[in-house]
Amino acid sequence: MMTKIPNTQHDVIVIGAGAAGLSAALVLARARADVLVIDAGEPRNAPAAHMHGFVSRDGMPPAEFLATGRREVSSYGGTIESSTVATIDRREDGGFDVALAGAAVHSARALLIATGLKDDLPEIPGVRERWGSLVHHCPYCHGREVSDQLIGVIGGLAREMSLKQAGLLRRYSDRVDFITNGIDLTTVERHRLEAFGVRIVDGAVSRLAGEADVQVDITLTDGQTVRCDAVFIAPVPLPTDDLLRSLGCAADPTTGLIAVDAAGQTSQPGIWAAGNVVTPSAQVITAAGAGSASAIAINGWLLQRDLDTASAGRPTT
Ligand SMILES: Cc1cc2nc3c(=O)[nH]c(=O)nc-3n(C[C@H](O)[C@H](O)[C@H](O)COP(=O)(O)OP(=O)(O)OC[C@H]3O[C@@H](n4cnc5c(N)ncnc54)[C@H](O)[C@@H]3O)c2cc1C
Repeated sequence: MMTKIPNTQHDVIVIGAGAAGLSAALVLARARADVLVIDAGEPRNAPAAHMHGFVSRDGMPPAEFLATGRREVSSYGGTIESSTVATIDRREDGGFDVALAGAAVHSARALLIATGLKDDLPEIPGVRERWGSLVHHCPYCHGREVSDQLIGVIGGLAREMSLKQAGLLRRYSDRVDFITNGIDLTTVERHRLEAFGVRIVDGAVSRLAGEADVQVDITLTDGQTVRCDAVFIAPVPLPTDDLLRSLGCAADPTTGLIAVDAAGQTSQPGIWAAGNVVTPSAQVITAAGAGSASAIAINGWLLQRDLDTASAGRPTT
């Protein structure tokens, strides 16, 4: 096997320039750490025109939020590279060689992995092309914008989330239809939703159609059509955690997610993770907060190692 020769050495490599990665990079760059951010350019909320719920940034287009973050990181000397990380190897000195999809290899003393997640959308024709415009998943992000409209909630594999959506969305509109689409409601669940004003439509969805960006017709296999202004689905979140797993980071046996402490430290020394990759429910603001907490923990960890190196050979008591 050919020995990889790192192109550059850094204190920290942050993988992923979404809210979590950029927030971490900003804190690290301001702390005068040498930080490189590598990003594949596919943030999760890219299909949405506006981002909501981030105080002081409410309604901002996601692309503008990320561009602002990149400018801030760069202004403090952080470097951002557009590329995909293919593999990471642990070095003998405890650091990491990070290989990009091209030929380049960068090395670092510590890593923050903030690679987000992929939403596994249901294979219903018409969903994918409306995702982020007329088809949503998060009432907190887009419920307010569809207030008093005709809302359809399509049941899915994430059963609990589908039921929660139906209830939550009833707060925004008095016309919420819950299309069960494979979810077998218990009698109690059915009564609770109906008593709350949610109309239950039993049946399986075959496709979504309708005038682009205006209206959605949900067609069921039995021929019924439910006309809506907005549709909510519950995709299955698939964390992009292959790099963490390849490095031996332990998963929580209950959730199956890579386990981290409150500051994002994984089971492997020198490796932190933040944002949707370890917390699928994180909003932009909480992903950013997690990135910031990780950055402070990483900087403290680097300091301890620098103090150890500087004082090597001196008395320890
Ligand atoms: C349609 C939609 C609308 C949403 N609207 C809102 C909203 O209004 N308000 C809100 O708070 N939340 C919203 N969210 C949730 C929001 O997207 C997430 O909270 C947020 O993106 C999490 O940030 P993150 O940094 O963890 O991940 P991301 O923003 O997804 O960033 C991860 C980055 O890592 C990169 N990456 C992945 N693998 C690699 C690799 N191997 N090498 C290099 N880079 C890699 C990706 O390309 C991506 O750029 C929405 C989600 C969706 C799907």
